Amino acid sequence: MKDMKEKFIRFMQGRYGIDQFSKFLLILGVVVVLLSSFLSRNPVGLVFYLIGWALVIYCYFRMFSRNTSKRYAENQAFLAKTYKIRTFFSQQKNIWKQRRVYHIYTCPNCRQKIRIPRGKGKIEIRCPKCSTTFIKKS
Ligand SMILES: [Zn+2]
Repeated sequence: MKDMKEKFIRFMQGRYGIDQFSKFLLILGVVVVLLSSFLSRNPVGLVFYLIGWALVIYCYFRMFSRNTSKRYAENQAFLAKTYKIRTFFSQQKNIWKQRRVYHIYTCPNCRQKIRIPRGKGKIEIRCPKCSTTFIKKS
């Protein structure tokens, strides 16, 4: 087992390895192959199947590639193209995390959003912007 690991490490020397673009290709490839199984009686299914495997093979080709500068440039281009969608998802994840811990209230006077930790019972909230106070359950 240890021998296998050493062999693999030696094999990967000078090769590019995994990056975000390869991970994306692998996940997309697996999803497309799975989708193709739902279309098994349809010629479109075969096309999906081949595309899915092509994506997986491309992922492995990139991982084992020795042309690291070219692979790195591809990954940078991928990250640049997906920047907006990736930040959108990480923002959504953040909002969900905050929602579990905090309750967001809106000041009845000036509409300022106020973040209050959950589970403190009935509390008086003072708006930091206009100093209006109001009672809420957190
Ligand atoms: Zn206010």
